[in-house]
Amino acid sequence: MPVAPDDASTPGDPASPASTSVNDERAAKKSERKLNIVHPREWALWSQPRRIVSYHLGFETVALVVMIWACVTAPAPGSRDWFRFAALALCATLHIQLSRRQEERRRSKRTKPQVYVDLTGIWSFPGVLVLPIHLALLLIVVSRAQRWFVARRQPHRFVFAAFSMMLAATIAHEVVDLLGDRGWVSFGAMGSLGSFKEFAVMVVAGLIYGGLQALFIGVVLALADSQATVRTLLGSKEDNELEAVTIALGVVAAVLAVNLPAALVIMVAIGVIGNRIAEVRQLQVDVRTDPKTGLLNMRGWREVAEREMHRANRDDLPCALLMVDLDHFKSINDTWGHPAGDDVLEYVAHALRSATRPSDVIGRFGGEEFVLLLPDADATEAEAAGERIRQTISELHVPTTDKRGGPVAISNRTTSIGVAVYPAHAEALDSLLQAADAAVYEAKEGGRNQVRLAS
Ligand code: GH3
Ligand code: MG
Ligand code: MG
Repeated sequence: MPVAPDDASTPGDPASPASTSVNDERAAKKSERKLNIVHPREWALWSQPRRIVSYHLGFETVALVVMIWACVTAPAPGSRDWFRFAALALCATLHIQLSRRQEERRRSKRTKPQVYVDLTGIWSFPGVLVLPIHLALLLIVVSRAQRWFVARRQPHRFVFAAFSMMLAATIAHEVVDLLGDRGWVSFGAMGSLGSFKEFAVMVVAGLIYGGLQALFIGVVLALADSQATVRTLLGSKEDNELEAVTIALGVVAAVLAVNLPAALVIMVAIGVIGNRIAEVRQLQVDVRTDPKTGLLNMRGWREVAEREMHRANRDDLPCALLMVDLDHFKSINDTWGHPAGDDVLEYVAHALRSATRPSDVIGRFGGEEFVLLLPDADATEAEAAGERIRQTISELHVPTTDKRGGPVAISNRTTSIGVAVYPAHAEALDSLLQAADAAVYEAKEGGRNQVRLAS
């Protein structure tokens, strides 16, 4: 299931590495070794912008009211319910404990608040389907409590994630009650028509359960980050696939919990392997991504750019390469410190995305240099794109910190951009890069803050 923003380092966040002193880190490590419990009065939530605090508190209050109402009006659980609860809770515990290491590694890779898919939905979703609501919620509490030791998140984020799961579970549970008969009598009756209807109800419940969590968390991410893109709000394709598989496995677990509870052990094995696959998939993305900006790194960029050049060659179309070099970047580091320089790089990456088309391939070449491949663009279009990028960067207003951690805003930055076009300037990717790089040097020589076409 998607989980709320991870160990966050939003600009200006007091927990951001930029402003964490060595002593703070030591203290944090020490408390981590204990129980990792922070007094609610000291939660980082209170230093967040007002809109975020209001959303958290408002959301949690509404969730609490809805959950209490659902529990109070639900029939008391019977012995069969308790048995299913025990089976699911036991399996969830086994899964969580056996996948602890993978989960820790996968979570520690996250450097920014973002959607995070946690595979414990394999257990909580069947809870929604086959348990009365109190036990379904208790099952989520049992798994979340164990995740606390692995998640190492700020408490308010962890609590929010738990509430968003529980509210989504409650609503999905109510919908199942409205649509179907919770006896799931057709599970065992092979070939009966009722089983199709029951399956349809489960699919609807799965969409509601997954969709609502994505919505609740997307709103926090949007409130926390004015630069958020649809992808950062809703998660990547990989995240969503993983989420869909988790819920699908939850459906299988529900069928087993009703008909053949002992076979749930098989689902534990699948869950543990699922965690390994999730880790490998994340590594695949990581090797192609620049961690600081989230853009492609040169390995990833080259792969896509080669493919685009091949396509341009095959279809006899032009394409353009832009090399973007920030002017006097060193002076930012020298004046305000490297964390400020890093914040500028993040904002520039966002500016590059917003000033280009989704099909343009953007990478971080290294340091304060970026490369873009613009499919189907000729020299005129590429120069116009370069000019748009130069303009967008010059309008950036980057809130950050100075060397002493005090707030500053960096703006009015200039950029030199070199443009080379296939096939006019070069036919191979490396030669095109060289031509664009030479154009950047001409732009620098010519006084910086300009776009130059390769000669
Ligand atoms: P020019 O206008 O000639 O391009 O000057 P410049 O200062 O931008 O270029 P120079 O190549 O002299 O310096 C680039 C600087 O970029 C030096 C380096 O410290 C800094 N830099 C490279 N990578 C990073 C990074 O990831 N973070 C930060 N904060 N600075 C970086
Ligand atoms: Mg440079
Ligand atoms: Mg530079």
